[in-house]
Amino acid sequence: MGYAAFLERMGQVNDLLNAKSILSWDANTMMPPGGAVTRAKQMATLMGLARDVLVSDETRSLLDKAEGEVSSTPDGSVERTICAQTRDAIDYHLRIPSDLIRKRTELGGLGHDIWAEARKNDDFAAFTPLLEETVALNREMAEHIGYDAHPYDALMYRFEPGETMATLKTLFATLREGLLPLLRKVQGADTPRIDFLQRNYPAQQQLAFGISMARKLGYDLHRGRLDLTVHPFEVSFTRNDVRITTRIVEDWMPGSLFGTLHEAGHGLYEQFADPAFVRTPLATDLIGFYAVSGVSFGAHESQSRLFENQVGRSREFWELNFAEAKAAFPEQLADVDATAFWRGVNRVKPGFIRVEADELTYDFHIMLRVDIEAALVDGSLSVKDLPEAWNAKIKEYLDLDVPNNRLGVLQDVHWSSGQIGTFCNYTIGNVMAGQLFAKAREDAAVADGLARADYTPVREWMTEHVHRHGRRYTRDELLVRATGRTLDPAPYVAHLTQKYSEVYGV
Ligand code: ZN
Repeated sequence: MGYAAFLERMGQVNDLLNAKSILSWDANTMMPPGGAVTRAKQMATLMGLARDVLVSDETRSLLDKAEGEVSSTPDGSVERTICAQTRDAIDYHLRIPSDLIRKRTELGGLGHDIWAEARKNDDFAAFTPLLEETVALNREMAEHIGYDAHPYDALMYRFEPGETMATLKTLFATLREGLLPLLRKVQGADTPRIDFLQRNYPAQQQLAFGISMARKLGYDLHRGRLDLTVHPFEVSFTRNDVRITTRIVEDWMPGSLFGTLHEAGHGLYEQFADPAFVRTPLATDLIGFYAVSGVSFGAHESQSRLFENQVGRSREFWELNFAEAKAAFPEQLADVDATAFWRGVNRVKPGFIRVEADELTYDFHIMLRVDIEAALVDGSLSVKDLPEAWNAKIKEYLDLDVPNNRLGVLQDVHWSSGQIGTFCNYTIGNVMAGQLFAKAREDAAVADGLARADYTPVREWMTEHVHRHGRRYTRDELLVRATGRTLDPAPYVAHLTQKYSEVYGV
């Protein structure tokens, strides 16, 4: 009885956060601009209510009773895991003083306009005071949250629990060692044709083709839908309503196509979570306050990157599916074959902007941001020296000279919202995708499916090893169960090396 009452209480937290997600989906797809100010307040109210319910005396007393009731279940049982995770989340939130949360919310509210104006005018000095305040506030947060070795570890906890600067340093060193020489070789080779990707691709046809490919990967339209937005995203309101969005550029066809496959990959994680976990803490991020089944941001990103890049940009995929692309766009692709198309969509072009980066250069944008954020937080880099540090890294990694701060340090929206610690999940997602896909391919049914354009076996493998577990296991527990190892960059580096050696003939 105690456990059931506790679970129902936690269902209310999940309901509030799902309602907040619906407001957020609407704000990013349908809402007229006039609604922005009141909508932000509505969402803040729901999030505040979710927090109040979670840390309330009533919930804590229900949790006490539930813990007593489930203590006889085996170690690691779903019931005990749910209780332990809720206990951790309550402790986490109670460690952070509420005036600090209020300050961060206020800072985030002010930040967007100040950042947008500074970026427009290429005026880093106008953004400096806000960023200095953000860094100071996050440093204070880190002290309250607590950490062993580096204050940045405390800030990453919300997005990538368990990740530390120490492990990231080793990971990044391995990636740089494996990828920089490959990038230099590619930079010295002839570039594949991309002219045919820049022809006119009408929006409706792009949408239809994108969704047909997403369905092929297993994305279920009965429990999903695709809408247009400015910055594409996936959001779920339980596993039974998982929405994705895309942005269409009529003269750059890969943007929407691979964006749709990416978001569909995120969607699969949610759509194929265990139905028994609906409305429970195993479908709720109680630290970051999102109704989500993915166990970390990096784990979630592993599924988007896997279906977008490991499956969707593979040679095998286009040898089997190019005929469909050609049927959808007969004029635009009249003078192209499957190999040319596959090479085109894998073109490498080092650039200044992270969100436009290709698969080979993307991680360098992330390493630079993580190193810079950590240095800001531990005080070894000051905000005023930030542009110089940024530009030096872009030169070192990509051999490019940053012409202005708009194309450099002012490009990302993240810092304007008061958030530090969010970037590592992109690279962790890439690495995990490489690791999971390499393991999945060892399964005969998966390999056979991939060779016949049947993506059900690979989706089922991911559901069996990743999706269905929701938030039950930590990211590393999930990886060990699925692949026998914790995070291991070797398969990812091998994947990029093999692909780009083939695409570029180097
Ligand atoms: Zn993503």
